[in-house]
Amino acid sequence: MNYEAVIGLEVHLHLKTKTKAFCGCSTEFGNEPNSQVCPVCLGFPGSLPVLNKVALDYAIRTGLALNCKIQEFTKFDRKNYFYPDLPKNYQISQYDLPFSRDGFLDINIEGKPKRIGITRAHLEEDAGKLIHKENTSLVDFNRTGIPLLEIVSEPDINSPQEAYEYLTALKSILEYLEVSDCDMEKGSLRCDANISIREKGQKQFGTKAELKNMNSFKGVKDALQFEIERQIGVLESGEKVIQETRLWDTKELKTVSMRTKEEAKDYRYFPEPDLPPFIISVEKIAEIKKSIPELPKEKMLRFVKEFGLSEYDAGILVASRRDSEYAEECLKAYPSKDKKAIANWLIGPLLSEANNRNSNICGLKVLPKGLLELVGFVDRQEISHLSAKAVLTEMIDSAKGASAIIKEKNLIQISDTGSLNAAVEEAIKENAKSVADYKQGKLNALMFLVGQVMKKSQGKANPKVVQEMLKRRLADA
Ligand code: ADP
Ligand code: MG
Ligand code: ZN
Repeated sequence: MNYEAVIGLEVHLHLKTKTKAFCGCSTEFGNEPNSQVCPVCLGFPGSLPVLNKVALDYAIRTGLALNCKIQEFTKFDRKNYFYPDLPKNYQISQYDLPFSRDGFLDINIEGKPKRIGITRAHLEEDAGKLIHKENTSLVDFNRTGIPLLEIVSEPDINSPQEAYEYLTALKSILEYLEVSDCDMEKGSLRCDANISIREKGQKQFGTKAELKNMNSFKGVKDALQFEIERQIGVLESGEKVIQETRLWDTKELKTVSMRTKEEAKDYRYFPEPDLPPFIISVEKIAEIKKSIPELPKEKMLRFVKEFGLSEYDAGILVASRRDSEYAEECLKAYPSKDKKAIANWLIGPLLSEANNRNSNICGLKVLPKGLLELVGFVDRQEISHLSAKAVLTEMIDSAKGASAIIKEKNLIQISDTGSLNAAVEEAIKENAKSVADYKQGKLNALMFLVGQVMKKSQGKANPKVVQEMLKRRLADA
């Protein structure tokens, strides 16, 4: 049987506001437990919430960037449930009138564009954190009330790889918008994945499972892959998939059942009486729209047009906002019209140095000017590509400039034919067989001779110049 996966993702995002969604407590991460609390976020009777305007702005900005329609008349609702990390016994959320709905996000899958629908993006507040130790459970309310944006996708995603691309593209946009630090390790970006399978060609959706507890995009991908195989196994054995919430076990690399539909809660949503409904004016929406920077996709297309790069290369260069600014500075200042060489340096050696150091390009302390200086040496054939890569590593480690390192290590290649003549003649004299082979059309023999000259020059000769010299000399003879 041929099956198809149907996936919808729910992303929860901490908005990067200084204070919480409905009170003035700090949102700073990592402080003494319960040091950032007040009667409002602890749900004391008689305390009243006040909406954080910055959180509202960030929520609208994100909705607009995700091509959503912004709801002009909107309100908050109470989502009621009991849990020890929820002191109010309800969460302020949005039910039927979310700020944003009906948007989309374009991803690239195997070189082809695909549009994933965004059902809604609504504002709510985070709960606290339970800390379980041996025989006790502790609760930290510092996180309680931090503004949380929930972004729900349509079930338009059909493979774990598509889910991965969707999350990567979404994170890139969120970083460009500067609405969140998107740090999965700190829990400021979390993802639940809903997945079902159906026979290919079948219209109706299968029964879904909701996966939780993945702490990286790779984890989401792995969990989805596992779950597809599990669900196929269930169907093939003649049974039915049941609707349930499953946890991704990061040690065993499998999903395990957490709760089934029978235990699903009725949240008894009702309008939040302490926050009256309100209108987001058209002017306000227009003003926020203006504050949205050029987004990754537009920037990618501009890089293709302005610098003649492929969409693939440009896509890598724009993935992070700060690195894309760095790349643009390099591309603009690079003296040649053909920008491929500098783009290759950015995507190749520089990016892998950054990845190796768990950093981004901007974090490497090599300024665009420094990189261009180094690449200049290579372009003028003064140093080899190989030495240039070693110089780059040292530039990053020592914060020294390219020319200082090149001078110190004496890396400048010998390109002067006069100085190379003797070595060329020696190599020819000592390797009569290779000379004969070359004359019979064996190119390998020429490369061997180049190697011999390189050896004689202690690796200092410019191989391109040596090759030209040998060709000329052997054509004459
Ligand atoms: P719930 O009420 O259980 O939260 P929703 O209808 O709100 O379910 O959908 C939550 C997420 O699940 C959305 O991202 C949606 O696209 C996705 N989804 C809904 N039905 C299915 C299905 N049959 N298979 C996979 N994903 C689904
Ligand atoms: Mg849901
Ligand atoms: Zn508070």
